[in-house]
Amino acid sequence: MNKPSIYGLTLDQLSAWLGERGHKKFRASQVWDYLYRQRVTEFNNMTEVNPACIALLTEHFAIQTLTEHVKQESADGTVKFLFRLEDGNLIETVLMRQKYGQSVCVTTQVGCNIGCSFCASGLIKKSRDLTAGEIVEQIMKVQFHLDAAAQDQLVTHIVVMGIGEPFDNFENMVDFLNIVKDRKGLVIAPKRITVSTSGLPDKIREFADSDLQVNLALSLHAPNNELRTRIMKINRAYPLEQLMSAVEYYLTKTNRRIMLEYILLRDVNDHQEHAQQLADLIAHMNKSASVNLIPYNPVDEHSQYQRSSQESIITFYDTLKKNGVNCTVRLEHGTDIDAACGQLRSKQIKKAAQAEKEENPVVVGS
Ligand code: SAH
Ligand code: SF4
Repeated sequence: MNKPSIYGLTLDQLSAWLGERGHKKFRASQVWDYLYRQRVTEFNNMTEVNPACIALLTEHFAIQTLTEHVKQESADGTVKFLFRLEDGNLIETVLMRQKYGQSVCVTTQVGCNIGCSFCASGLIKKSRDLTAGEIVEQIMKVQFHLDAAAQDQLVTHIVVMGIGEPFDNFENMVDFLNIVKDRKGLVIAPKRITVSTSGLPDKIREFADSDLQVNLALSLHAPNNELRTRIMKINRAYPLEQLMSAVEYYLTKTNRRIMLEYILLRDVNDHQEHAQQLADLIAHMNKSASVNLIPYNPVDEHSQYQRSSQESIITFYDTLKKNGVNCTVRLEHGTDIDAACGQLRSKQIKKAAQAEKEENPVVVGS
């Protein structure tokens, strides 16, 4: 069996693991310094760690387990990575260059079982959850990319908005968050991390109870049950009443704000009356909620959906504003390189299947 990445252990877990094997606990901080500050990729290069400890770590852990399969750079500086996992599966990670820093969008699962009708990731059923190590390593790979450019840039922000439903891989996601937040590691401030969920009420409550201090975004996308169920079948299991009650719990428990994501789909959910319904639905949240309007990124397989017109986006935005809703329109990154959720991966998988067919053509009737 392949060795797991050491990136998957929190500092406490590594300390305990070393302690149980007779090593001094301070070794864990030392190893973390090599991993996250000096960013060595070989245990043998941890020159101040004693040889017995190096041998033990080498025997049980790998550092890197992902390999770069494709890297695409967009004209606006966005970089999209397609990584191959050790089992051959492909996952996506995106680096977005923002005015305020370097933001990375990470994947949490191979595929997604939620199956939203507009999303490229949901086209492929989940084959497995990513380990905490595989999620952390995506950040490290992007950091190595930044290091290679020698511009002293660090990953400063994380959005958990890549392939998969993070709340369907809850424990690994929480370990990942604790690892990247740690002051002895990458020191990414929790207020600079946002986790996006399609809305699993029990997990929203658990997230609120976890005291992670990380931002929460909710993929709402519709202002009523009928429409939400039509575009997100998860709404059948967890209708808006249940979802909004979990959101209330989150707001009260954490005293934080929530970001409501709303993809604008032409003539589906982008009319002025939808904006009004949305404003009414969240009116009681006052300033605790903000709406992020997302221009739809067309997906070949979901041709029933088109992007809203500029005019509809403006009317929708104005209606929310008039109702006192905090609202922004998401800037797009790397649309020239398929940077939307799951798109590069699904295109690469299709390409590979096509190439296989061409190599082994099915000859009918011969
Ligand atoms: N599963 C989680 C996180 C990953 S999706 C969730 O659904 O929230 C991250 C965001 O990208 C979600 O708001 C999702 O609705 C949005 N998204 C998915 N496909 C999209 C597309 N084709 N165009 C624009 N946004 C999309
Ligand atoms: Fe899964 Fe999120 Fe895509 Fe829905 S939008 S299919 S939950 S990744």
